[in-house]
Amino acid sequence: MTATLPTIGHLIDGKIVNGGTRQQDVFNPATGKVEKRLQLADLATVDAAIASAHAAYPAWRATPPLKRARVMSNLKVLLEQNADKIATLITAEHGKVLPDAMGELQRGIENVEYASYAPELLKGEHSRNVGPNIDSWSEFQPLGVTAGITPFNFPAMVPLWMWPMAIACGNTFILKPSERDPSSALLIAQLALEAGLPPGVLNVVNGDKETVDALLTDTRIFAVSFVGSTPIAEYVYSTGSAHGKRVQALGGAKNHAVVMPDADIANAVSAMMGAAYGSCGERCMAVPLIVAIGDEVADAMITGLKTEIAKMKVGPGTDVSNDMGPLVTQPHFEKVKAYVDQGVAEGADLIVDGRGVSIPGHEQGYFLGPCLFDNVKPGMVIYQEEIFGPVLGIVRAQNLQQAMDMINAHEYGNGTCIFTRDGEAARYFTDNILVGMVGVNVPLPVPVAYHSFGGWKRSLFGDLHAYGPDAVRFYTKRKTITQRWPSAGVREGAMFSFPSNR
Ligand code: NAD
Repeated sequence: MTATLPTIGHLIDGKIVNGGTRQQDVFNPATGKVEKRLQLADLATVDAAIASAHAAYPAWRATPPLKRARVMSNLKVLLEQNADKIATLITAEHGKVLPDAMGELQRGIENVEYASYAPELLKGEHSRNVGPNIDSWSEFQPLGVTAGITPFNFPAMVPLWMWPMAIACGNTFILKPSERDPSSALLIAQLALEAGLPPGVLNVVNGDKETVDALLTDTRIFAVSFVGSTPIAEYVYSTGSAHGKRVQALGGAKNHAVVMPDADIANAVSAMMGAAYGSCGERCMAVPLIVAIGDEVADAMITGLKTEIAKMKVGPGTDVSNDMGPLVTQPHFEKVKAYVDQGVAEGADLIVDGRGVSIPGHEQGYFLGPCLFDNVKPGMVIYQEEIFGPVLGIVRAQNLQQAMDMINAHEYGNGTCIFTRDGEAARYFTDNILVGMVGVNVPLPVPVAYHSFGGWKRSLFGDLHAYGPDAVRFYTKRKTITQRWPSAGVREGAMFSFPSNR
């Protein structure tokens, strides 16, 4: 029966091609139906993609940065023109509500916009007369063939964190999107060709571990960007590094929001609703934990959250009146539900139970309603592990220091935020918290495209963060040139001491 379904192939050398004998179902999470079949690349297919990127590199490297940047400007326009189509694909495969899909795409477009500043970003550094008649400058040269491996939860945005900057810097690229929702990334890559990208500069291979391993070990690839769960991030980092590649591997998260006694509680409640339940909690910057300072704050937050949760609409993402869609797949739905069961078994108080939600007409969809726990404690599994679903827990703490000690002891350090009216407390928090992205009265402090994105601790393996200025460093190699043009007839004798301006 699934044989008649559309199949999704790969983009290699500017063409959509078939490749690989293995296939995987792509579901619509709102209906639970298989809608498409994805071809999983075999080694020959991955090799063809790498060979294409390798062959395209010399000409692309030699293309003036302004011409490379123009492709990004053209792409920005095409992405805006095709935004509805792309968002519809995201919702059909991921499940998130359409306005949220549009939001992710917009943030992706901003990365394309940043990549269009490449000529300015690649100007390098120049110093005249570092010694007598000697000038010195640093250039940022491309690496060669680069690759990116991306997660399901931002199927359009996360690939756009990677390849526009890699390509604008003069590299060629191979993208391996998530096998759960691959279509939007493939469509965007086709739009890049329409925008003027020469064939082979960007290739897309769909696949699973076999594809990833081939990319991590091939000697023609110089750098790998990864975003996904922490165990795979660690694996990608160690395997890629062991094969001589530059790797940045962004992993999972468990973000805490601290609510201080002086906070504007109504504001904190509405901020937390979106941060905890937006995109069904399937965001690495989602906030699944509130650390309330004092019982009064905890009780007030719970009262406010219960009122707001009662107003939430859960249903298919195609209905724009819905606030929250389904989880991405049946196994993920089962996993999140099992965490809720475990929280109950561990002794946390389940105040709002989203299990057993059924959406008329979508009974086979992977819908879980919003869940709210009180009295979550650091020793519990639902405190420690990333759930990646619509499950929010309240942790009760006595004071700010206790909250910060908890956050600093956690294995993840992606994002955090504090709600307060106290500038001194906010400054102490931002100075001393061991987390990469921090919000003050901002629940999802996702940096804009001209800053860089990344967590600390086990939320990121590697040194450089994603996109923004760090991406220029990640996707280029510094070369420093020191040059002298002696005046005619002036010859210096041999110099045996180390050259200096002494
Ligand atoms: P995942 O780790 O399962 O998959 C990510 C990518 O790795 C996919 O392309 C997948 O095909 C590939 N992969 C999966 N298993 C592999 C294996 N054994 N060997 C090699 N490759 C493998 O992640 P996911 O479920 O798609 O995404 C959700 C996770 O991503 C969450 O943990 C979330 O926190 C994280 N995430 C992190 C960030 C960040 O910036 N830190 C952003 C978005 C998502």
